Amino acid sequence: MIASSNTSKKQQTINSSISLSGVGLHSGKKVAINIEPAEINNGIRFIRTDQKNSNIINALWSNVTSTNLCTTIANKEGASVSTIEHLMSALSGMHIDNVNILIDGPEVPIMDGSSLPFVELFESKGIVKQEIDRQIILIEKEVVVTKGDSFTKILPDKQFAINFEIEFASHLVNKQACQLQLVNGNYKKDISFARTFGFEKDVDYLRANGFALGGSLENAVVVGDKKILNKEGLRFEDEFVRHKMLDSIGDLYLAGKPIQGYFYGKKSGHFLNIQLLRKIFSDKSNFKII
Ligand SMILES: [Zn+2]
Repeated sequence: MIASSNTSKKQQTINSSISLSGVGLHSGKKVAINIEPAEINNGIRFIRTDQKNSNIINALWSNVTSTNLCTTIANKEGASVSTIEHLMSALSGMHIDNVNILIDGPEVPIMDGSSLPFVELFESKGIVKQEIDRQIILIEKEVVVTKGDSFTKILPDKQFAINFEIEFASHLVNKQACQLQLVNGNYKKDISFARTFGFEKDVDYLRANGFALGGSLENAVVVGDKKILNKEGLRFEDEFVRHKMLDSIGDLYLAGKPIQGYFYGKKSGHFLNIQLLRKIFSDKSNFKII
């Protein structure tokens, strides 16, 4: 049976394989991906097809090896894949539990900088319900992690909701706040279109350090001193904060199962998202699996 992206109590996978290719935002390398349906309780797995042995990397917080500008996971043997957060976000937002992601390089393609291309591919192939109920991580206590004046926290709630605040020195971004409940398949219209962004003043430094080598106005919003450099402008006035929400949804899916709780992020990013997961799972009284 083909289901929509709406909240399903059953585990879900995709109806048939999806192929796509593109460049990695940071590596600049061309990569091809095949996303394949997977059995119940498989979870989300990346498989490096350009490596022969020990090439399976489970998409779990315990496998995160770097949160510097993107989220990177690796297995014990060192096979890694980076910039997984937008694809993970699309999988979470579309309630897809089980897939194998075959990838022939070290970084997920950036596509247009948002998760919309992934969402559209999932929709076009169809999402199917599987025979077993999905488990959920129910947050039972407030958990907070902080770094300077930024923090992430999660509180018990009846559903998954997200509240995010950003603050940048640029008057083009400035302060933005957004709050959403992710219900009834609103991920696509409220979150998925929001593109990654960066500041023109940082580009030289990033490139000199081996980052953003695949970045362009085709796959990122670039904020200049006086204006947004992309001809088409922003997709939404608060696209910046919505992209941070998109990233957080992707990082939180590294819990291995959907989380039920109220997530707050303030001036936070990948580092604090993963720290929050580490702290949640460090104490069994913080959560219950239902
Ligand atoms: Zn991002």
